Amino acid sequence: MRIMRNLTEMENLRPRTLQELSERLGVSKFTACKYRKILRDVGTIIPPKLEDGTKWYFASPENFRQLDIVKDFIIQLKFDKLLPTTSISPLYQICKETDTHPEDLKDSIRKAEIVYAKFVESWKAKYPDKLLIKHDKAIRKFLLFLGHSITNSHKTFYADNSVGGDYANTRLSDQEFQSGLEFMEKEGGIEYKNLFGIHHETFVRPITLFKVLPKVEMQFLEVAGKTLEYAQLSVVESKQGVRYDKLILHPKVVDMVFDMKANQMIVSDKKEIAEKKYANLLRAFYHEIGKLSTEITSKRGEEGWLYQNRPLYTIRHSSAHMWMRRTNYNADLVASMGWEDSKTLLKFYSRVSTKSIMSAGVCQYCRPPIRVSPEFSFCSASHAVAYLNGLRI
Ligand SMILES: [Zn+2]
Repeated sequence: MRIMRNLTEMENLRPRTLQELSERLGVSKFTACKYRKILRDVGTIIPPKLEDGTKWYFASPENFRQLDIVKDFIIQLKFDKLLPTTSISPLYQICKETDTHPEDLKDSIRKAEIVYAKFVESWKAKYPDKLLIKHDKAIRKFLLFLGHSITNSHKTFYADNSVGGDYANTRLSDQEFQSGLEFMEKEGGIEYKNLFGIHHETFVRPITLFKVLPKVEMQFLEVAGKTLEYAQLSVVESKQGVRYDKLILHPKVVDMVFDMKANQMIVSDKKEIAEKKYANLLRAFYHEIGKLSTEITSKRGEEGWLYQNRPLYTIRHSSAHMWMRRTNYNADLVASMGWEDSKTLLKFYSRVSTKSIMSAGVCQYCRPPIRVSPEFSFCSASHAVAYLNGLRI
């Protein structure tokens, strides 16, 4: 067949995009892709190699991004409002390390499992201390993009550590948050108390925490003839590069941020030291309130696992949960403050939706429940401010 022959000649000269092949050969991109796959499989098209034997698409991440399948994946990631590099870099490492063309991961889940197991083995041998969270996430995203159906509990490509499992209950009650402030001050000093307070109130990413406190604006609110204050922070969250307005409603944390000087670091320790210290303080605190135990080792997917292995992330999780309670379970509103999107948020808290049915109409301020709950729910953020400032009807 002429088309097959031309395609072989073109491809063996240099790799082309599907667009280019389709235009030059006068066939659809789908057909060009199908033919190229056949020719690659039978070995008629020999992927060009660089002088040292490396395939051209493994020579650099930029080359890798030129592969059609990767280009399409990037489009999808952008469409999902995700930063492509976060997924593409780990995917590049996985494919390069195992000498696998990303297109080959299409074939079957079994094949993808073998490739990934091979990668994990050689990666762990090279970097025994490094975690594979980014790679776990990237490969899962890519396989889903390829159209494979993978359950959340798939043993190799399980869903994000934070999704599914029993993490819906991983959170602090309002009382535990107060204890957290005391614990942090006692064990870590005032700076770590501030860190914990700001973190739990705003669910900023850790990278934001170990910098200068973002600009804070004082805001006022009228409830029942009283003027109440709260704080607003404007933060650029690095993962998406989007600016979010974060609110601080808890009066103790409001006081904290107004007591801080302009351009003051939240903690003066260096980032690496601060992050470790904060993580250890949090773990110690989780032990103190019985969220963690020295006797039980939790497996991935169990509540304790997150407390032990992602102590900072746990706070972000707990905070988003608290904001759901503060806004009458309005996931769109909470997402607009810096969660990925409301769909992800609802997936994280699938069980929150049943709770929201039961709590509908309950507001600690204007319609308090008969039984006292350790977790306050409010009809609106303004009633949360009122209650937290001690107003009672
Ligand atoms: Zn209310």
